[in-house]
Amino acid sequence: MSGPNLNGTSTRARIEKTAQMHIEPASDEMVDVVDSKAVMHRTLLEQPLRVVGSEGLYLHLENGQKFLDATGGPAVACLGHNNPIVKKAIMDQLDKVAYVGTVFYSTSAAEELCSLLVRGTNGAMSRAFICNSGSEAAEAAMKMARQYFVELEGPATKRHRFISRKQSYHGTTLGALALGGHVMRRKIYEPMLSPGISRVSPCYAYRGKTEGESDEAYVTRLAEELDAEFERVGPESVCAFVAEPVVGAALGCVPSVPGYFAAMRRVCDKHGALLIADEVMSGMGRTGYLHAWQSPLVNTAPDLQMIGKGLSGGYQPVAALLVSPKVVNVLTKGTGAFSHGQTYQAHAIGCAAAAAVQKIIMEPNMMEHVRKMGAALEKGLRERLADKWYIGDIRGAGLFRGIEFVMRKDDKTPFEISRQVASGVHKLGMQEPYLISLYPGIGTVEGLAGDFVLLAPPYTVTLGDIATIVEKAAHTINTYFEREF
Ligand code: PLP
Repeated sequence: MSGPNLNGTSTRARIEKTAQMHIEPASDEMVDVVDSKAVMHRTLLEQPLRVVGSEGLYLHLENGQKFLDATGGPAVACLGHNNPIVKKAIMDQLDKVAYVGTVFYSTSAAEELCSLLVRGTNGAMSRAFICNSGSEAAEAAMKMARQYFVELEGPATKRHRFISRKQSYHGTTLGALALGGHVMRRKIYEPMLSPGISRVSPCYAYRGKTEGESDEAYVTRLAEELDAEFERVGPESVCAFVAEPVVGAALGCVPSVPGYFAAMRRVCDKHGALLIADEVMSGMGRTGYLHAWQSPLVNTAPDLQMIGKGLSGGYQPVAALLVSPKVVNVLTKGTGAFSHGQTYQAHAIGCAAAAAVQKIIMEPNMMEHVRKMGAALEKGLRERLADKWYIGDIRGAGLFRGIEFVMRKDDKTPFEISRQVASGVHKLGMQEPYLISLYPGIGTVEGLAGDFVLLAPPYTVTLGDIATIVEKAAHTINTYFEREF
């Protein structure tokens, strides 16, 4: 790092020297040194749209266009953009303190956020570990699960394995990537990923259920598959089973069928393993319930829960691991510490932003509004799209809706991966006159593919906004297929 070396100088000399370090305000000439290609975006070949402002549902582009952010990034901006209450909370916290190292200090912002989070679980969780991304929450979950068994069973415990699901995504860092089964995101890193993770089928009714199979029979089949996987790898070696209550990026808003989570819980309990819910994408109100596991479809509390995205609505990078009393008690009676930590853990500004967001989400009627708007979104999408030859499934929960495309409706034949259908729909949406974000993905595993786009508008949308989203989304999708096929 450049800059004057102040080491070894007295406090007075340092103050004087600091006073001399007069920094010129940025001038127009600064523009000359701005190089848009200096940013390591995901794509190195194209320049993403440059956003210069925002308001509610819309992003303002530098060419004056207003872009409908119907996905809030990847299901992040749950209150829309430029919310004055959240901005004020950030400024107020900046006036108090921006950062403290949490090894030595706490802040009222962190304590308020964690209290809100714990309270929202109605006793299912008793502590919150605040970190900066969903991937970090996944790493923390894996380490905490392992530590739980080390403290419970002693350092010789054999428990180190995890069971997750084939079509899943739990984050991008090496532990989290190993946990997930997202073929394309894992591909080139395979040799670096832990072999201590195995996978079972996800709960994916559209493609997973056999002809005429009831929900009960499907759940029983999936529970037997999980049970068999425990037996195959040795139940005494498994720390936890990990699953998303509503699958986001890996499958496109696929909810569990009723009874699925309770059945998985029973299998975990039978083998003494923990149940971890990944609610990074589907949590914090997205499904119309504060936690997806509280929805009637799931109705089963996990032992550890990962949250992120809508936790801070994008106003700061904040995620968390919520920890049940069962796990907290073992750690408290054991070493009395979680053997894990990060420099920016429970960052004061992030906590203040997330607390402000959560207070708005927890307002009476907010979740009911999300459910109502979600139902209107699904109804609108069905009316405009369901009968088209290329629409296989429209599904989801709350303001979290996915549309899966198929080449043939009758036997659900997916498009060839090489056709990049979802990506094509997304790219068209980015252009005039559409200007709407449609989050694309392909649920690939073992040769199975299913192109989808997902929608995740802010919880504050009105029926008028929903009508606009439906109109623009349907127009984009229909135009794409009319042009390409
Ligand atoms: N878990 C799920 C279900 C996700 O969808 C994501 C991100 O898309 C993650 C974990 C990782 O979160 P992050 O990108 O904040 O690290």
